[in-house]
Amino acid sequence: MTSTIESPVTSDNTAVPHYQMFIDGRWVDSAERYEIINPATEEIVATAAKGDVSHADTAVAAARRTFQEGVWRNLSGSARAAVLETTADALEARSEELAAAATREGGAPIYLSMGLNAITPISNLRYFAELARTYRFELPGPVVGGIAHGGVVRREPVGVCAAIVPWNFPLALAVWKIGPALAAGNSVVLKTDEKTPIGALELARELQAAGLPDGVFNVVTGDGEVVGAHLASHTDVNKIGFTGSSEVGKKVSEAASRSNLKRVTLELGGKGPNIVLEDADMQMAVDGAIWGFLMHAGQACESGTRLLLPASVHDRFVDRLIERLKDVKIGDPLDATSNLGPLIDAAQRERVLGYIELAKQEGATVACGGGVPAGVDKGYWVEPTVLINVTNDMRVAREEIFGPVLCVLRYETVEEAIAIANDSDFGLSAGVWSNSVDTALEVSRQLEAGSVWINDFHMANENYAFGGFKQSGVGRELGANALDPYTEVKSIQISMEPDISKRAYGLALPTPAPAWSR
Ligand code: NAD
Repeated sequence: MTSTIESPVTSDNTAVPHYQMFIDGRWVDSAERYEIINPATEEIVATAAKGDVSHADTAVAAARRTFQEGVWRNLSGSARAAVLETTADALEARSEELAAAATREGGAPIYLSMGLNAITPISNLRYFAELARTYRFELPGPVVGGIAHGGVVRREPVGVCAAIVPWNFPLALAVWKIGPALAAGNSVVLKTDEKTPIGALELARELQAAGLPDGVFNVVTGDGEVVGAHLASHTDVNKIGFTGSSEVGKKVSEAASRSNLKRVTLELGGKGPNIVLEDADMQMAVDGAIWGFLMHAGQACESGTRLLLPASVHDRFVDRLIERLKDVKIGDPLDATSNLGPLIDAAQRERVLGYIELAKQEGATVACGGGVPAGVDKGYWVEPTVLINVTNDMRVAREEIFGPVLCVLRYETVEEAIAIANDSDFGLSAGVWSNSVDTALEVSRQLEAGSVWINDFHMANENYAFGGFKQSGVGRELGANALDPYTEVKSIQISMEPDISKRAYGLALPTPAPAWSR
């Protein structure tokens, strides 16, 4: 069933809006629908089309057709940049609306949604537009004197790129894939997370309004194990950019490899160490520790969930931390004064509460929080929770909890802190707090993490590459080389003197050289 309305939303005369998918430039509905639930209130925010493999196939076919026709990839980088910039301007004009929609579907406090579901993706789009304008899609190759040849080195778009994103920062994480893919001239199929499709559908509308040819960008909503798995194993998809759990990332990587050796970028989970050195400004580090573990109720891959404290300041630090947490305002995420929102759904709340129980069984102590905030009967809330007496061999210190739970670990020497920090399957992020930038830099150099922040946390700035060591991922997003993973390198070499070239490789040529050698 297709329609050509200009909006992802139909009212259908029901009380809540209904979001359709965007495939080949049209808004497409499905026979089956599902509900998007506000995690703060448990109210239905909207319904969305439940796409299936046939929708994914139609979207991939549209993307392939546009790629073959060259309607997008044959434009100049500047022409593509102009479309991305017009889109960014249109989204900027709708920032408040986008942020409110993101808060309703995902539960992040409105200040965070404004940052991470509006200002950040808009700024990221502009950054990728600038890369499209300045990227060296074709360069003269080196002239190699000894074997007398020159050439051309080209960066060509990979083809059809699939993007699969989670629910925690849905628009930003989608733009981290869509932006470089489109900037480089690819066609794209995005699968949003089931729970948070709204931002990406609005992005599709604005890309189309900005002049993106139909079929170059497609959004399919639906289950991960159906639509996501199908895209990962689709033989007509050339590249997949995935953000999500390490567990699903491995499945995606396996399917991508088994089907057609797709190029893969994986941004996965984390268990970020946040190391406070003895000379750190204590109040700044206390606030930094809270920002590190509590942003979006701890539902961020790069969260600083393992706080490493020197034994000499441990008790004083924990006391201040617990005191400071009393200032955190838990409440309606649409209220600009709220600091902490709910978890995404009931399953995630149960999982987090389960980890808190596990911590007690493992011998840790709940120093504050540990349950559902008092007086709450709707929504999926968990109190800010600090676990002390945690050791790095406990499951709570090794596994990603993805909730407002901080594990505090003690260390005696800086070498021990570095060893504890690196003793993890993950390697996404880390923090170091010190009054000496030189000392903090020296520690940072020894940490196995894709991003290390000194005296701050969560600094996902588009100018710096982002991604993980070890099981936190494969490849990088953002940064000056962000377009590279969305391109194939083609080396074209032109022989100036074929005889010389062959001799350089030790090939004896008959005299006179036969025609095939010229
Ligand atoms: P998830 O892995 O369950 O789901 C992520 C996406 O994958 C969703 O769109 C889901 O529908 C889809 N999916 C599920 N099963 C699939 C399958 N078999 N094949 C293909 N796609 C499938 O993750 P989540 O619970 O939605 O998000 C939280 C996780 O994401 C955490 O582990 C977090 O650390 C990670 N994350 C990582 C980054 C990063 O940049 N490294 C950023 C944000 C979140």
